[in-house]
Amino acid sequence: MTSSSTPYDFIVIGCGPAGATIATQLSRKGYSVLVFEKAKFPRLHEGESLLPFCYPILKDLGVLDEMKKKYVRKPGARFSNYDGKSSATWFFKSVIHDDSHLSFNVDRASFDHILMKNAVKNGVTVMEETKVAAVDTSRPGELVEVQTMDVAGERETWQAKFLIDASGQETFMAKRAGAKNDFEDMDRIAWIGHWKGGRYMNGVEVGLINIIRMSAGKKGWFAIQPVGKDLLSLTMIVDRKYMRQQKKLLTDAGEEDWQHAFYVKEIADCAQLHEMLEHAYMIRRFAVISDYSYYSDIAYGDNYLLVGDSFKFLDPIFSTGVYLGMKSAELYAEALDVKFREGREAGDKKMAQALETIQGAYGLVEKFINIYYDPTSMNLAEVNPGAESGYKGYEKAYSLLHYLLAGDFFANYEKYSEFLDIIKDPARYKKWKSLIADKIQAAAVPSVTPEEVFGAIEADQ
Ligand SMILES: Cc1cc2nc3c(=O)[nH]c(=O)nc-3n(C[C@H](O)[C@H](O)[C@H](O)COP(=O)(O)OP(=O)(O)OC[C@H]3O[C@@H](n4cnc5c(N)ncnc54)[C@H](O)[C@@H]3O)c2cc1C
Repeated sequence: MTSSSTPYDFIVIGCGPAGATIATQLSRKGYSVLVFEKAKFPRLHEGESLLPFCYPILKDLGVLDEMKKKYVRKPGARFSNYDGKSSATWFFKSVIHDDSHLSFNVDRASFDHILMKNAVKNGVTVMEETKVAAVDTSRPGELVEVQTMDVAGERETWQAKFLIDASGQETFMAKRAGAKNDFEDMDRIAWIGHWKGGRYMNGVEVGLINIIRMSAGKKGWFAIQPVGKDLLSLTMIVDRKYMRQQKKLLTDAGEEDWQHAFYVKEIADCAQLHEMLEHAYMIRRFAVISDYSYYSDIAYGDNYLLVGDSFKFLDPIFSTGVYLGMKSAELYAEALDVKFREGREAGDKKMAQALETIQGAYGLVEKFINIYYDPTSMNLAEVNPGAESGYKGYEKAYSLLHYLLAGDFFANYEKYSEFLDIIKDPARYKKWKSLIADKIQAAAVPSVTPEEVFGAIEADQ
């Protein structure tokens, strides 16, 4: 084992969106930052649908221009019921009047690579194929020790003033501290496949992510979105109990590859998807992600913090993970700067404020997710979000849902939380729907053209 001599200000575990964002922001503020990333980028990753509220962060990082040339734009989301008879399209343009209403459907392999290269451009040292194997944060006021292992099995010890765990679902610190907990009633499992030769319809032809709610027993949904001019990403989320029943049925029937049979059968059973994927083929085997929704009891200490999925992961129904991670990273970078410049007292205050806002945002998203799965509550496929003319009179009351879908979780989470309490209560929801939502059904939706969505892509994935 060797030891590195120069201590860094910050060591970051993981170079996903949360790690790359906090590393870049801290380096720009003049700190020395070393990131360890166990993978070699570009590497595959789930989480391809970005929210418009990511836009200012991406702009500030300086990666927007490159993204515009690479990725399909995402103007909103379409929610529909399984039979396709009810559907509602939520265009961000209804409430966001600048360019950021066109968000992005990204290929995560290249997106995360862009963020990593941008971090390096901003002075961050990134060591790929280097896994953090152990850390010692047990001596507040002294340097943190980090032990790494490279692909050749070579171990090395590094030191820093502060450690940032952005290790994603590996939940490096939470696991080791025994602080990782599952969310009750979010025990689901995800299948993700990429398809060529699919039919672009149901709003996919203008970049919409299409979310199809499954029947109640499956407690799940499909999300299909264009990630290229001829590349569809299809995620299937189901309740683990349902998945186990199906696994048993399929294996009892002699099916050798039950995971494949299950994914394909569920798609074939859904008329909307069947039509879209009838002549399509998967470009590689789907991924199955079973480490689902969880949270950590620890958030930060004197010399460490957890950010992004390493801190908390919520069901991805509203495509919230990347934004929650990047925005948390931004807030923590500001707080850490105060801690380093102004000392412990001011720093602790700022860290506590950042955490309160982050917890507020995650809490709001959790509430919104629970409403989606509650069959007695609002069904987004059945609330018709009109726009322009009819929309105007009810804008304040109605736009809250648009803003929530766009990612407005941090600044006003208390206000939105009160609104969700209304939506959650069946009687109050009924009243809200008849007074507000039903009044604007006839209004026209804002138009978006395929040219706006696909036109700037220089080369397809
Ligand atoms: C099925 C599914 C669909 C999703 N869809 C969306 C979506 O549409 N939109 C959205 O915004 N979010 C989505 N998400 C969530 C999104 O993927 C995550 O929230 C996001 O990637 C979190 O970013 P992160 O930087 O915290 O972690 P990650 O992106 O996971 O990055 C963590 C990095 O740490 C590295 N690492 C881990 N351990 C170590 C170690 N010991 N040493 C060194 N490096 C290490 C990993 O290799 C990885 O590169 C989805 C998630 C799932 C499961």
